[in-house]
Amino acid sequence: MNPIPVNEPLLNGNEKKYLLECIETGWISSEGPFVKQFEEQFAARVGRKYGIAVSNGSVALEAAVAALGIGKGDEVILPTFTIISCAAAIVRAGATPVVVDCDRHTWNMDVGQIESKITPKTKAIMVVHIYGLPTDIEPVLALANKYGLKIIEDAAEMHGQIYKGSPCGSFGDISTFSFYPNKHITTGEGGMLVTDDEKLAERCCSLRNLCFQPQKRFVHEELGWNYRMTNLQAALGVAQLERLDEFVARKRHMGQRYTELLSDIPGLQLPINKTDYAENIYWVYGLVLKDEVPFESIDAILRLGEYKIGTRPFFWCMHEQPAFRKMGLFDDVSCPVAEKIARRGFYIPSGMALKDDQIEEVAKALHEVIT
Ligand SMILES: *Cc1c(COP(=O)(O)O)cnc(C)c1O
Repeated sequence: MNPIPVNEPLLNGNEKKYLLECIETGWISSEGPFVKQFEEQFAARVGRKYGIAVSNGSVALEAAVAALGIGKGDEVILPTFTIISCAAAIVRAGATPVVVDCDRHTWNMDVGQIESKITPKTKAIMVVHIYGLPTDIEPVLALANKYGLKIIEDAAEMHGQIYKGSPCGSFGDISTFSFYPNKHITTGEGGMLVTDDEKLAERCCSLRNLCFQPQKRFVHEELGWNYRMTNLQAALGVAQLERLDEFVARKRHMGQRYTELLSDIPGLQLPINKTDYAENIYWVYGLVLKDEVPFESIDAILRLGEYKIGTRPFFWCMHEQPAFRKMGLFDDVSCPVAEKIARRGFYIPSGMALKDDQIEEVAKALHEVIT
């Protein structure tokens, strides 16, 4: 049996043509024309006025936190079940991350638990949409409004997703995306901040570009970073964006096919296809081993490896990260739902290039492994 990788991107549209254009014209740095084009087209796609392309989704979060002026003495509420980039951006800014457990069905932040975490120090809520289903964001926006908090929306896993008729990425004071090769559209490495606020957009542009000043270029009032995206990356982005609708439809097909093939395995909790606010776009197809299965996800991953099937474990909770515990963060925090799915969850091949017959092979192997 041929190996089935956990992710393989699909690059058979205009990617080659636009990349060649970069090389033939010599525009390979961040000054090239594809960068602006990608920013404008992507921002328009999520209904925002400004897009600021950066080198990846992790630094997009760092720039978002900095642009909002979050720092020492501030608290930011976020889900514990997410990628390290979210909490790292908060900690690196000198602020304190405050985590919330997740919902056992959607794996997103349990929004009902947010209000009890708000203190006079709370400055922002970082909403992270997980694995293809958005967070139920309306109640979060209401809380932000009630307490005067900023919203950072991490929509890295939500390209093309819609929440109650509005695009994901349209909800934050600043929203961020990643274009890593496992996201719905990719630039190899890359990210984007989007916002409607002109001042915030200018701040993000400045922070991404070392805070050079227009007049006195090499005199810096503030420290920024070089987080610029290259024209080569943006060329890929423009080509990929042309196919976003097609890609979302394909992912939905994959997710529904997996669900059809796996729903007769009693030990598996499958992703929800639909809630009353959104339809899953299956960024990845996640599985959680139910209590009756006598082993955890590490074992399932090893067994699927024997069939040459690529998998990844679920995120590990922020409050259980040794790197943060060593800093004295998250003493006495407990989030039972997230702790459990972190240990019993994993995802199976979900990349854009995955074929229907590969989906069937993965399902067959799962029937043998989880009995
Ligand atoms: C992928 C991802 C990121 C990080 O993006 P990179 O481009 O890999 O740095 C951040 N947040 C979420 C939710 C992600 O899925």
